[in-house]
Amino acid sequence: MSEVFNVEEIFGQNVFTLGKMKERLPKNVYKEVVKVMDQGGELSMEAANVVAMAMKEWAVENGATHYTHWFQPLTGITAEKHDSFVAHPDEMGKMLTEFSGKELIKGEPDASSFPSGGLRATFEARGYTAWDITSPAFLKESGCGVTLCIPTAFCSYTGEALDKKTPLLRSMEALSEQALRIVRLFGNTEATKVTASVGPEQEYFLVDEKLYRQRTDLMFAGRTLFGAPAPKGQEMEDHYFGVIRERVGAYMKDLNEELWKLGVTAKTQHNEVAPAQHELAPIYETANIAVDHNQLVMEAMKRVAVHHGMRCLLHEKPYAGVNGSGKHNNWSITTDNGVNLLDPGDTPNENIQFLLVLACILKAVDTHADLLRQSASDVGNDHRLGANEAPPAIISVFLGEQLEDVVRQLIETGAATSVKEGGKLLTGVKTLPDFQKDATDRNRTSPFAFTGNKFEFRMVGSADSIASPNTTLNAIVAEAFCEAADRLEKADDLDLAVHDLIKEYLTEHQRIIFNGDGYSDDWLAEAEKRGLPNIKSMIEAASTITTDKAVKLFERFGIFTKVELESREEIIYETYAKTINIEALAMIDMAGKQIIPAVVKYSKALADTVNAVKAAGADAAVQAELLKEVCENLAAMQTALAKLEKTEKEASEIEDVKAQAFFYKDTVKAAMDELRAPADKLEMIVDKNIWPIPTYGELMFEI
Ligand code: ADP
Ligand code: MG
Repeated sequence: MSEVFNVEEIFGQNVFTLGKMKERLPKNVYKEVVKVMDQGGELSMEAANVVAMAMKEWAVENGATHYTHWFQPLTGITAEKHDSFVAHPDEMGKMLTEFSGKELIKGEPDASSFPSGGLRATFEARGYTAWDITSPAFLKESGCGVTLCIPTAFCSYTGEALDKKTPLLRSMEALSEQALRIVRLFGNTEATKVTASVGPEQEYFLVDEKLYRQRTDLMFAGRTLFGAPAPKGQEMEDHYFGVIRERVGAYMKDLNEELWKLGVTAKTQHNEVAPAQHELAPIYETANIAVDHNQLVMEAMKRVAVHHGMRCLLHEKPYAGVNGSGKHNNWSITTDNGVNLLDPGDTPNENIQFLLVLACILKAVDTHADLLRQSASDVGNDHRLGANEAPPAIISVFLGEQLEDVVRQLIETGAATSVKEGGKLLTGVKTLPDFQKDATDRNRTSPFAFTGNKFEFRMVGSADSIASPNTTLNAIVAEAFCEAADRLEKADDLDLAVHDLIKEYLTEHQRIIFNGDGYSDDWLAEAEKRGLPNIKSMIEAASTITTDKAVKLFERFGIFTKVELESREEIIYETYAKTINIEALAMIDMAGKQIIPAVVKYSKALADTVNAVKAAGADAAVQAELLKEVCENLAAMQTALAKLEKTEKEASEIEDVKAQAFFYKDTVKAAMDELRAPADKLEMIVDKNIWPIPTYGELMFEI
């Protein structure tokens, strides 16, 4: 064995944990920090100064030279601007590092280079970052050396959120407040806070760096834009959970080590369905920390890959014809006195509370299926959703056999007296059953599945931030809780009122429940009959965030203002148009500079062969036939290339962002498909030594 490390020792080594604060801070300051963490509010400037000093000392002891306010702009990735701790030297030339409380709690990066969807024009270019004290500061080791990273929220000068974190934090507060009203009804007077917990399972591909560098498409678009299928794909099902290759294993080892140091609980790793595809799952944690940590996971995956001569592809669909990558977002809600509201529980009282929570969630998901679908959309995910490898673009909820049966009984008779599979019969309470949780049945095709004590939202894309899905989930469920509490708090007979409400919600929203095969065509037809939305693309989903229904929801709980929502819709169109533009340009580049010249060369060699064979008096029919096929596809490519260049130019001239995005989707993408088809055919014919780019076989199997 090479160097030995002890996982207990390294875990959290690079995090300024509560433990380290307790050690390094005076008692009163530590107490103040804990209070703000638990109850919100702001640190006093005196306390902030003391914390900043202690944090800087710790960071410098561990080699840090710079600090940064680490934030999550609407690009979906993270941003950082490094400032060193270096201060003015004294007259003797001695320099003492500096870091004040003000620098800790507030930063002022220029907001003008980040997407703001018009907010910039309306308000001020300046933006500021504010420390999210509930997410610990950490040290990032990279090519830049060691940097102290302070997780922050990013707002415009007038307070509009310019990031993914601010609305998430607002949604967590809303959910907590409304969920508390629900648990109070059931006699829980101890809980002071309810927290959303999230565990995201991250899928990714690895590819050899040398091959990656030969693919303009991978380098610029993160996915292949050309490529015929490899002789072998995933049909043997030999990769999923297969033995991890040595090189990949070494990568995973380093990745885990880096993540553990950062306090990320990397827990599970395995090969995924497609060749060269893998998954990493951490243990679930508080939603905002899970969001931060998922960003760190994605960054570390990319960084560590480079050290191993590989590249990590987080794109949802790097290769046509094999599985793409997603991110299962496991979500539950727990009180600070330890009750998971999604746990059916052991007593009838817990069961009833659970059924009420369940009814509220079904109502929320049905009412806002469009928003939930939108929250999981990004450009890459358009290739996955509904493509027989990921959930369809239709939101439905899977409950499992036992729970669905209970729901049916409640809808039909208003009472559930029996439970499938040997659960106990009800004692004590009139109308609801005492049942045990059923985590056995896993329907992998469902976009939103109940799995025992959590919901698993399976639509999310692998490259996407999980902030939006969780913001949306928290918001829609907060609304349902609020409406339920409004009624129940006024009820004279609570038992009866709860019972009626559960029955009503389940009856009204039962159409969202679907336990069958989500990949089947029957489901598409059935869902349409039920009136469930089937929103096929990211840009078609964009306007769901500015409907009256959405604005009312988000404004009511102070999560987004109408202006913020409108700006976000605009950013979706912008992002989409820019991304497809890059893809189209990468295709034009590859077709014009690499593929067509190679095919021309091959056709010349073939033509020479035909002539030579004929001159020798032999039959050149096969060679001639091949030449004909090559020339036909070459002509098709040339025509398609000209068309793509033309549509691409037309697209770039459209001023309205929404119209532009739709033009990219409907016209430019179609032209891209037309260019790809003959190129992929040619790849199967042209001499391997002449084909200018690595093939799917090489990309997926040479690792
Ligand atoms: P799967 O079979 O889908 O892989 P796992 O049990 O391995 O399910 O869990 C997947 C993810 O769900 C992990 O990140 C795990 O920590 C998380 N998870 C487990 N329980 C909960 C919960 N109560 N709330 C949120 N996430 C959870
Ligand atoms: Mg899962």
